Amino acid sequence: MIEVKNLSYRYPGSKIPALKDISILVPQEHFFAILGQSGSGKTTLLNCIARFLKPNKGNISINGKNIAKMERKEFRSQLGVVFQKLNLFPHLTVTQNLTLAPLKVLEKSEEETQKEAEDMLERLSIGELANRYPSQISGGQAQRVAIARALMLQPKYMLLDEPTSALDAQTTEEFAGWLEELQEDTCFIIVTHDLPFASMAASHGIIMEDGVVKSTGRIQQIIEETSGSTE
Ligand code: ADP
Ligand code: MG
Repeated sequence: MIEVKNLSYRYPGSKIPALKDISILVPQEHFFAILGQSGSGKTTLLNCIARFLKPNKGNISINGKNIAKMERKEFRSQLGVVFQKLNLFPHLTVTQNLTLAPLKVLEKSEEETQKEAEDMLERLSIGELANRYPSQISGGQAQRVAIARALMLQPKYMLLDEPTSALDAQTTEEFAGWLEELQEDTCFIIVTHDLPFASMAASHGIIMEDGVVKSTGRIQQIIEETSGSTE
């Protein structure tokens, strides 16, 4: 369970807070979507949960433990992040992109991580990409490789920021099905403004507006509420 409690964040030099008293609960069995229009605070919330931004107020815990107090290794085994800009290393092959963090963070052996990377790519049906460089794969493939790389640390929770922004409608649908297969082992939290994708992939979520949570609940219910209110 991830618990965000009374979280507020203001960017240095900005007059208006980007997040105002946000509280959410994400049980591990949920597939959770953070929805809202551009500028509503979704990425800021994700960056606080990922510990890239330090909240001014409130706190975030995973299974009752404050994330601010976790060691880096423990935190990264709990939570993985894939940013909108995927940040694959262009000078490394797909396999090398996957092995880097296990080698550095978990200090595993070269041989062991190599085997794990091969297994991971096979499991995710992208084994044929192993020796390619990021410039030699499509946007949809790059999205999968970035998720495979984050899964190498076997996090219990995985945050994805706008994962479908570079995908067409057909690939988005395939991608939603693909995530559903992975969610047995990993709890996904997706940040998206793509409502059709959210309704395909997620079970629960929130809608943000101007830095506050406007509604929370089952995904179909909150999407219906918003489409109702704009008519
Ligand atoms: P979303 O991801 O929903 O589009 P963001 O979390 O990126 O929204 O932004 C929320 C608010 O914070 C916006 O008003 C945005 O202009 C502001 N903001 C985002 N990043 C920064 C930053 N680095 N410095 C100052 N303000 C920022
Ligand atoms: Mg954003």
